[in-house]
Amino acid sequence: MPSACPRCGQLDMVQRVAGIVASQHSQLSWELRAPPPPGARVAARRSGGFPWGWLVVILLITLPFDVLVLVAFAIALAVVISVVAVVALVAVAGYVGYRLLNRHVIAERQAERDRQRAAAVRRYQHALHYWSQLDHCHRCHGVFLPGNEWQYREVTVRGAVAAPFHAWALASQLADYADRQHAPDIVRADDP
Ligand SMILES: [Zn+2]
Repeated sequence: MPSACPRCGQLDMVQRVAGIVASQHSQLSWELRAPPPPGARVAARRSGGFPWGWLVVILLITLPFDVLVLVAFAIALAVVISVVAVVALVAVAGYVGYRLLNRHVIAERQAERDRQRAAAVRRYQHALHYWSQLDHCHRCHGVFLPGNEWQYREVTVRGAVAAPFHAWALASQLADYADRQHAPDIVRADDP
């Protein structure tokens, strides 16, 4: 059930932001969307396969020459493998030594990274909680959080709407403000 737009006072042009993002592929839905969760990876594109068939044909035509090339290649490969093996051995030995000497420092850094990551995920989910409640007024071209009287104390201006591309920033500000305040009249994300 949509709420009246705080700017024009009408509700005929009001639509839930999450609904617009889920149902449209427009400039507006792109601006309104929430970012991917922290740590999410974007899949890399793959290029076309290697033309193995052509390689076989060329090898068959130039067979005598290929033998010489193969011998030279095998020698070069043996040299490269030896060098790589030595470098890898030194690197592994150095890494193991470093781990043994700095076990506590590494564990602390890892714990700190885990804490920061957990905090980022929690902040994201809290912002998502408000983002999913945002409405968009197509007449005023702006987004707003319906209800939640507490937001007018610090976060939003009564009677105003935010630009669509500020939707996620607005949700983050609402979440941060709700986090800072512990007053009982403020709705928390983890409340049922
Ligand atoms: Zn409006």
